[in-house]
Amino acid sequence: MAAKRSSGSIFDAPDLRREFEKVDISLNFIPFIWKYVIKNPNCKWDDIPNLPSAAYPLLHSKFRTLSSSLHSVVESNDGVTTKLLIRLQNGAFVEAVIMRYDTRLGKYGGKPRPGGLRSTLCVSSQVGCKMGCKFCATGSMGFKNNLSSGEIVEQLVHASYLSQIRNVVFMGMGEPLNNYAALVEAIHVMLGPPFQLSPKKITVSTVGVIHAINKLQKDVPGLNLAVSLHAPVQDIRCHIMPAARAFPLEKLMDALQVYQKNSQQKIFIEYIMLDGVNDEEQHAHQLGKLLENFEVVVNLIPFNPIGNLSEFRSSSEEKVSRFQIILRGVHNIRTTVRKQMGQDISGACGQLVVNLPDNSSINGLTDIEDLHLR
Ligand code: SF4
Repeated sequence: MAAKRSSGSIFDAPDLRREFEKVDISLNFIPFIWKYVIKNPNCKWDDIPNLPSAAYPLLHSKFRTLSSSLHSVVESNDGVTTKLLIRLQNGAFVEAVIMRYDTRLGKYGGKPRPGGLRSTLCVSSQVGCKMGCKFCATGSMGFKNNLSSGEIVEQLVHASYLSQIRNVVFMGMGEPLNNYAALVEAIHVMLGPPFQLSPKKITVSTVGVIHAINKLQKDVPGLNLAVSLHAPVQDIRCHIMPAARAFPLEKLMDALQVYQKNSQQKIFIEYIMLDGVNDEEQHAHQLGKLLENFEVVVNLIPFNPIGNLSEFRSSSEEKVSRFQIILRGVHNIRTTVRKQMGQDISGACGQLVVNLPDNSSINGLTDIEDLHLR
């Protein structure tokens, strides 16, 4: 459940729709209100022109323009990554991360990619996480609360003041499919006016919550799905991701088959490289075999050790490279190695740390967010 709030976010679409319908206000005013709030974040409700008169008292009594606030912003030294620390209405903090890519520097089919500078925003869907993945410090803090759909959307609003966001990835703190209703609502808001993101530009990452995977495909078709597989066999998966016990690998792969058949989209497979755990040649072959009937892109993620929190070590570059060669060369699977970004601000995978700039603790938490960036 989302934490109880005194007045909701204007970006909580179901609440706003319900309240408007109660007093017969056209829902067509909603995108107009959002657009005004985005352009004028410090506005008062009375500033918004041309709303039906019944809208003003309703907005005053039930909603806030932004229910969260941007507490601080930390830039990486290279200016490529920006970490946003956002304070929710209940006093908890979450992080969102902006990553900037210059596609003109890349090559695609021998030509520079179109598009130029683009930004991807990684958003959080929960405070904490109950999945307990051992390589992720978020897992060690347990689950605190779900974000409302408005709080998820507000991360995009805060980020849009700093950068033009073209892609959104649900790879921040939390398991998005464990906060399913808010996730779907937030995505619907992002797809509509005034945000108008394309579903192809939104990626939802999951550890493999089987029952929700195909529901998501039906509820929001066209999204990208990223699956944190991290091991080619169930026992290693359970060792590094205890929640995987509830999601047997065989059943997960069956669900992904159905998902791919229905969606006709490739699936992104995330694989964190842990020295001596899942990075041996036999694991590469097992993974290749497991994925042989899928259209996938495998993303190998160099592990970022998080202080002394972790029992794991990073795989050597040679091992990562060998793993990639086997998947590509022997099993013909498109395989990339994730570029590390933002390590100097703890904004890289598994390193996102909710730290106030003065390093004081927040509500006694040392929140470390996994960023499953795919
Ligand atoms: S890796 Fe993702 S699902 Fe696992 S504990 Fe961390 S935030 Fe939760």
